[in-house]
Formats: sequence, C-alpha cells, structure tokens
Amino acid sequence: AKERGRNQYQFFNAEMRDQVRNRTELEQALRLALQNNEFELYYQPIINTRNGKVESVESLVRWSHPERGIVSPADFIPMAEETGLIQPLGLWVFEHACQQMQAWCELGLTELSVAINISSSQRHLGFNAAAAQALITKTGVNPNKLIIEITESMFLDGSEEAITWLNELKSLGVMLAIDDFGTGYSSLSYLKRFPIDKLKIDRAFVSDLPDDEDDASLVKAIIAMSHSMGLTLVAEGVENYEQLDYLKGLECDLIQGYLYSKPVPADQLPDVIRALEDP
Ligand code: C2E
Ligand code: CA
Ligand code: CA
Ligand code: CA
Repeated sequence: AKERGRNQYQFFNAEMRDQVRNRTELEQALRLALQNNEFELYYQPIINTRNGKVESVESLVRWSHPERGIVSPADFIPMAEETGLIQPLGLWVFEHACQQMQAWCELGLTELSVAINISSSQRHLGFNAAAAQALITKTGVNPNKLIIEITESMFLDGSEEAITWLNELKSLGVMLAIDDFGTGYSSLSYLKRFPIDKLKIDRAFVSDLPDDEDDASLVKAIIAMSHSMGLTLVAEGVENYEQLDYLKGLECDLIQGYLYSKPVPADQLPDVIRALEDP
C-alpha cells in the first residue's frame, strides 16, 4: 500500500507539473494574443417570436490562433478569469462590440441591439460604469442599444457592492440581462431587487423540451413568473422546431439558437439577418 501510495503521489506530481506547464503556456499565449490582436467577435441573432425580427445579437469572443485555428471561449475564458487577463480582454470585447454596433447602425440596422458578456471577475478587476461610459463615448454608440449579460452566480453574491455596481451600469441607459438563468439557485423574488430587464433561460433546460416534464414545468414557471415581473425572456440553445413551438406556446419573447443561426463573423451578419427576416 505504501508503494502504491508513493506511485500515486509521483503520478499526481507529474500531472500537476504538466498542468502548470500547460497553464503557463496558455497564459503566455493569451497575453501574446491580446498584443497581436488575435481575438475576434462573432455574433448570434436573437429573434423576437412575435414579429420574427432579429431584435439583437449576442457578441461571442473567438480566438483565431495562427496554428490552432478558431479557439472556443470555453477553452480560454476560465484561464483569462484566473489570471486577470479577462480585464483587458473584456475591455477589448466591450469596445469592439460597441464599435460594431455603431457601424451597423450607420449601415441602417437601426433597430438592432448587441448583448455583451461580462464575467463576474471583471467587476472585481475594475470594470464598472465609468469604464463602460468611456467606451460608449469613444465609440459613439447609443447605450440603449447595449445589453450587458451577467451570469446568475453574480447576483447570488447579493452584496451591497454588487447591487451598486449594477445600478450604476443600469444608469448609463443600458439593458441588463441575467445569463444562464436556472443554473444557480436564486428565486425570482430575490432577483426583483436587481435592475434587470431580461432573463436568459439556460440551454440545459431547453435541450430536452418539450418531452422532459421537469424541464417543461420549470420553463413554464420561469416564463410565467418573469412576465408577471415585467421581464423579457430569452431561451438559449433552441435547435429544433419542437422546442421553438413549445416556447412560442408559452409566449417566450426571444429565441436564440442554432435553429436560426450559429454565431457568425460581423461581416456575415447583415446577410444572415436578411435571410432570417425574408425567408
Ligand atoms: P453563453 O454566454 O451562455 O453563450 C451562449 C453559448 O451557447 C455560445 O457558446 C453559443 O455559441 C452557444 N449556443 C448558442 N446557440 C446554441 C445552440 O442552439 N446549441 C448549442 N449547442 N450551443 C448554442 P460560445 O460562443 O462557445 O461561448 C461559450 C461561453 O463563453 C459563453 O456562454 C460565455 O459564458 C463565454 N463567453 C463568450 N464570449 C465571451 C465574452 O466576450 N466575454 C465573457 N466574459 N465571456 C464570454
Ligand atoms: Ca451570454
Ligand atoms: Ca448563456
Ligand atoms: Ca453559459
């Protein structure tokens, strides 16, 4: 047993060493990627169920790596959060999404809004209303066209600081959305204390609709209660017509998912919108 214990220990050590090496390499690569401008924003349409129009788009960051190609945010956002690189990356994302929104507005897409993901670690690293205002001023974007998406876990914090932070952002004129709703354990009544406009129901609750009875009743309850609180609902990850029809039946306001479109580079978006709105 002793022998085995030692081997395990050594194995663990070697694995840890590799992890550290990979992490250091990834961190270095992320720093370089920021310097070399290797990040790009893709945009995914969000469709209004009442009129079929593309009401907004969500900006989703991609790392276009010279050798590895397009890298998914799931593979680098957690590391960016741990190392604090999410702060410069987040500012880059915010500025570029605003700049792109302003460019689309000038192209005639005047009704469109853009959703920007802000991770909760950005708050602790100094992203705030003043930083957002500086970029809004710099790009000339109308703040009414911006939706800031924050995950539910951030609200669970519930501290005075978090509430003040949200209220100050909201006072810029932007909309606020809770992302991945349902994955935390907050009640809707608790959320009433926050200046929220939209709820995004997490894909995990959408993928097995309408057959999964637990998911179906949960989604039904979320939609009914949020409507009574005046919130707009977005269902994420809608991939088929069964899900779409079910959600429409519950009067879910907005739909996002591969059924309509995957996230696309900015230059493809006007064509994607045209195709969705005049099929
Ligand atoms: P999220 O904010 O929940 O974004 C939605 C994710 O679901 C996106 O993954 C999107 O491509 C994917 N998705 C949309 N429709 C469907 C569908 O019908 N089926 C499936 N299977 N997936 C769908 P993506 O782009 O890989 O982003 C993953 C996560 O990375 C995001 O989840 C968000 O948490 C984070 N992220 C992305 N961009 C940013 C950013 O600019 N800043 C921050 N802080 N986080 C970001
Ligand atoms: Ca999001
Ligand atoms: Ca989400
Ligand atoms: Ca998510």
